[in-house]
Amino acid sequence: MIKLGAHQSISGGYSEALKRINNIGGNCLQIFSSSPRGWNFAKPTDDEIKQFLTLNSSLLISPIYFHASYLVNLADDSRIGHMSKLSLISELNIASKLKVKGSIIHLGSYKNEVSSIKYPVLIKNIKEILDKIPKDTFFIIENAGNRKIGQTLEEISQIVKDVDNPRVKICFDTCHLFSNGYRFNDSGELDAFFAKLSKLKINDLIEVWHVNDSRDEFDSGHDRHDNIGEGKIGINEFKTLLNHPKTKKYPFIIETPGFDGNGPDKKNLDILKSLISS
Ligand SMILES: [Zn+2]
Repeated sequence: MIKLGAHQSISGGYSEALKRINNIGGNCLQIFSSSPRGWNFAKPTDDEIKQFLTLNSSLLISPIYFHASYLVNLADDSRIGHMSKLSLISELNIASKLKVKGSIIHLGSYKNEVSSIKYPVLIKNIKEILDKIPKDTFFIIENAGNRKIGQTLEEISQIVKDVDNPRVKICFDTCHLFSNGYRFNDSGELDAFFAKLSKLKINDLIEVWHVNDSRDEFDSGHDRHDNIGEGKIGINEFKTLLNHPKTKKYPFIIETPGFDGNGPDKKNLDILKSLISS
């Protein structure tokens, strides 16, 4: 069965997110470990962890991912970079306890600094995190949409190569790909995309997809998400992605604004399900 899920709120506790995804018909999940606009130093109690694991032993939501804090910037060698490391190390320790597979991370930006100077900082920081997190968790790089680190496939490939650790994986977001000039309206175009990944030696590193439509035009450099079918990407891309023989093994997670504006919803999932030919 295809793995199709959504980002859901943890309001009321982690277990509530399991109930929410189950209620809207998803079977995989993304959550924040705490508020994404602060540093993630959640401290779930043993009871909360147990409750979550017990509930999921019947709901069987899998895989589950964390999405890291929006404050994270790993190309920084002062306070922000330090807090980014501490926050991710703390989050991935919780991930291991909750059987969350890993954190999906926006690496940050070079701001106005020279990228050649800050790039080694980025690589060093990622390596340090990987050294300090449980071995059963993944560090998942999300492709960026908005002129931040990880916009192009070449850049992601270089980072992965330089970090050189099997626990580094990739999350591709369809909206961010679209805003950077990557699209696939038919299986030929998706084949070409996979061929490119293969050439860059990152085709085996895809862990999960974020499936979002885009409010902004193709190659715009902006990354505002839209509901499936309401944005500029076009329904064919989603149909192609969900039905290609090479994507069967991947989880797909929506981060759409929702048709009622309350976040990723059943209607977006139902539209995607309707595109899947059995
Ligand atoms: Zn995303």
